[in-house]
Amino acid sequence: MPCPERGLTCPRRRMAKMEANQQMANSQRRVANSASEALPNRAALHVEWTSINWKHAEQLVSRLQARIAKAAAEKKWRTVKKLQYLLAHSRCAKLLAVRKVTTNKGKRTPGVDKVLWSTPAQKMKAALCLTDKGYKAKPLKRVYIEKKGKKEKRPLGIPTMHDRAMQALYAIGLDPVAEVTADKRSFGFRKGRSCHDAMQQIFICTAAGNRAEWVLEGDIKGCFDHISHDWLLENVPMDKTVLKQFLKAGYVYGRDLFPTDEGTPQGGVISPILANLALDGIEDFLHANYKGQKVNLIRYADDLVITAVTYGDAINIKAGLTVILLTRGLELSPTKTLITHINDGYDLIGWNFRKYKGKLLIKPSKKAIKSITSTLSEKILRKGKALPQKTLIILLNQTLRGWGNYHQPVCAKETFSHVDYILFKMLWQWAKRRHPKKGKRWIAAKYWHQVGNRKWVFCDGDTKLISLSDIKIIRHTALKLDKNPYLDPEYFSKRKLARAKKHLSSPFKEVWTRQKGLCHLCGLPMDSTEDYQYEIVNVTASGVSCAARKVLTHKHCFELFCESRPKG
Ligand SMILES: [Zn+2]
Repeated sequence: MPCPERGLTCPRRRMAKMEANQQMANSQRRVANSASEALPNRAALHVEWTSINWKHAEQLVSRLQARIAKAAAEKKWRTVKKLQYLLAHSRCAKLLAVRKVTTNKGKRTPGVDKVLWSTPAQKMKAALCLTDKGYKAKPLKRVYIEKKGKKEKRPLGIPTMHDRAMQALYAIGLDPVAEVTADKRSFGFRKGRSCHDAMQQIFICTAAGNRAEWVLEGDIKGCFDHISHDWLLENVPMDKTVLKQFLKAGYVYGRDLFPTDEGTPQGGVISPILANLALDGIEDFLHANYKGQKVNLIRYADDLVITAVTYGDAINIKAGLTVILLTRGLELSPTKTLITHINDGYDLIGWNFRKYKGKLLIKPSKKAIKSITSTLSEKILRKGKALPQKTLIILLNQTLRGWGNYHQPVCAKETFSHVDYILFKMLWQWAKRRHPKKGKRWIAAKYWHQVGNRKWVFCDGDTKLISLSDIKIIRHTALKLDKNPYLDPEYFSKRKLARAKKHLSSPFKEVWTRQKGLCHLCGLPMDSTEDYQYEIVNVTASGVSCAARKVLTHKHCFELFCESRPKG
């Protein structure tokens, strides 16, 4: 497929060419589909996909990744390049790339070519077709999604399945290098790191009495959209031809094709890694220029704060930061970049950090509270209007558990009771609206019951609504900043296990402990922080589904398991 955007300037000509390309793609797709759907071929592909040894594939890829990380740490860049090539051309990595894009959230959203990979045969064929030979990325499909609580919409680009898989494939080789070169206190989109680690670092850098008291809150203007392509092409350690394809793919909106001259392909798997790479190096710059001045950078994706001893220092740092960002095609938003005293407090990733009489308290931010109440109101008073009580409770518990876990390590007791109170008011309204002719007592007796010592529990039989106030505050264990997930995997898996022991609720916890945190199906470690990654399924030892016992598996493993199971 020729890349459609080159040498075309007139939009109408561009459009004509686009349509021609589209038609060609369609006919090619028909030919390809009919070839792959031919039964013997399809059956063979099906068998090949369903009999893949995923554990073996993952182990092989992690070994290569570890070698890349090691070479990068020793600054042996030629070895890095060689190993990356090896990885990008290995069957196992290709299989994992296809698995990733066919089991994640966007798997049912096609790109401009309208192709989806849903059957095992399609997936297998896709993996066999992944190659950089003559690779041309197709333009992204531009959609606008609503921003939470805002009127303006956010643009999002959707690559085709093939391009997504290519990005996932190259991300496998790029991430180990990015981990080595990354800033120490950068936490967003990093393997084994979380928002909680960022919060913990802010605590470490600002809590004690002798710490810097001023903070520069940096807001980078449309970070993902403006990163300089020249900078990326010069500095990102990966295959330049492929990277150029990712960056210059252009996008389609309506029937028009637009070129992309800056920014990373948002919506692609590789974007967060590229954005992180573009923002790395700020820490070194600060340490070199403001040595011994208690200047620390804490960054989560494009949200960043820098500590400073005086207001003047902060202004200086802001000037320095502006210069270094400029080299990467980025700039600070003049209105949203603020210099704040710790006594006045500032927000970052859902929390408010502020000193009260010299003591640093971290609480859920006002914005985070607003966001949860509007989600609850949406679920109860709009979508949940006609739902049975039981279904509503299950839905609400999911939201509450997730939100509660996020804020569990901070001073959230007060906020939790406050949200519980708001929740009660909403549920009362929900119940009243269902029975406009009934009295208060009748409604209360129908939906609220006494459970143990507690009155007013919103429950239906055994299904009861979680109360946020019951969530215990558990301190977060600090991360050792010099550990690398590719070079010190044991440290990270131990940390995951310990976290799971503290955080998982009882049905999960027992199964988790019995399986020692390993997936029942592939035998590899699971991540307890991302609870969508596992599911409770009923499986016997022979692997046939029946109500024998509950096990935990990776979500992708479970999907593959369902796929390979004989139907009917
Ligand atoms: Zn698994």
